[in-house]
Amino acid sequence: MKRFSVEQIRSDFPILKTKMNGKPLIYLDNAATSQKPRQVIETLDNYYENYNANIHRGLYKIAERATEGYSGSKEKVAKFIGADSMREIIYVRNTTEAINTVAISWGDANVKKGDHILITEMEHHSNIVPWMRLAKKKGAVLDYIALDKNKCGLDAQSIGGMLDKRPKVVALTQVSNVLGSINDVKEVTRMAHKTGAVVLVDAAQSVPHMAVDVKQIGCDFLAFSAHKMLGPTGIGVLYGKEDALEDMEPLLSGGDMIKTVHYDSYTWNDLPWKFEAGTSNIADGIAFGTAIDYLNTVGMHNIRAHEKKITKYALDELDGLDGVTTYGYGAKDIEKRGGVIAFAIDGVHPHDVAQIFDSEGIAIRAGHHCAMPLVTERLKQVALSRLSFYLYNRESEVDSAIAAIRKVKKIFKV
Ligand code: PMP
Repeated sequence: MKRFSVEQIRSDFPILKTKMNGKPLIYLDNAATSQKPRQVIETLDNYYENYNANIHRGLYKIAERATEGYSGSKEKVAKFIGADSMREIIYVRNTTEAINTVAISWGDANVKKGDHILITEMEHHSNIVPWMRLAKKKGAVLDYIALDKNKCGLDAQSIGGMLDKRPKVVALTQVSNVLGSINDVKEVTRMAHKTGAVVLVDAAQSVPHMAVDVKQIGCDFLAFSAHKMLGPTGIGVLYGKEDALEDMEPLLSGGDMIKTVHYDSYTWNDLPWKFEAGTSNIADGIAFGTAIDYLNTVGMHNIRAHEKKITKYALDELDGLDGVTTYGYGAKDIEKRGGVIAFAIDGVHPHDVAQIFDSEGIAIRAGHHCAMPLVTERLKQVALSRLSFYLYNRESEVDSAIAAIRKVKKIFKV
């Protein structure tokens, strides 16, 4: 796209023309899932209407077309994140499944009793629980990199101190889904590799919103979900360095992931298919490729620039409201944060906030955002409300959100 135009982008998203509670829909829950452009929806329809067939097996035209579409989508993903080839791109259901695959498959083979596993205090449950289970199963120790004193980013001293324990694996998020903070995953990876650790990056909130290059980061594994980046639900990515994936056992076994099977033996298929047992999520995989095309056309740098602008605008507006607290870095540190703003209104439960937003046609999330330890134990809140932006959000929608907060304040006399 030569010139970034929110209005032009919006015209591609049918749902943005709908109403919620009689008001035009304002969708500010993009960290949970994104909306889908017509091009992605049409790709799904087109597959089912014109070339629905299983991949890798059929020796007929429409099966070849489906196979090409599915593999082509992986080529696009590989290029999008700077992977060497699609051999490093495993399709799974979502970020959660990608992290579980590493924790179970890699973890089982490499983590022993007494070993350390290192994560951070700002992780989503999907990057906590699989490691906690692994630690429990193996008798390993789960450590946490602490938040800094302002509870925005990671504490530099804590990173060094925890790495001194020589963890087997470091798993951390690139962008927090609560604080919005961007972690320097490249630097953490460099430091972790020096101590011999393997690094997994949870990129669920980064790959959809900014240019991410796995080779530049240097991480061993990276996980993200298509549904947060204009693609369908039910498809996600586990990127792994080829060597790491070659060494790993697949989580599931059966059809398609094997090359040969005899009554007494088997051999695995080549990467990436070794990790995809059974019939793949073909339609959603192909449509994911269309989502990548869409993001490339708009340009990831344009998307990041737009989100920075709208997030800064929102933070400045929220700053001017008495009784409202925002979390994470402020407007002056916009380079260090993504387009996620968690906030609290004095004495008002976030569920009441979300309900009033709903009555205004505004979709936001309220709760612990699947980061209970962070929200309840570090930020000491029962729950938080959250605005999260994407490429199709307008500044006028921020104004509507601010007006809704004023309404909440009025009703609850804050
Ligand atoms: N990690 C982060 C940082 C997230 O924000 C999310 C989704 N909220 C996930 C992991 C899990 O993603 P999914 O539900 O698609 O597996």
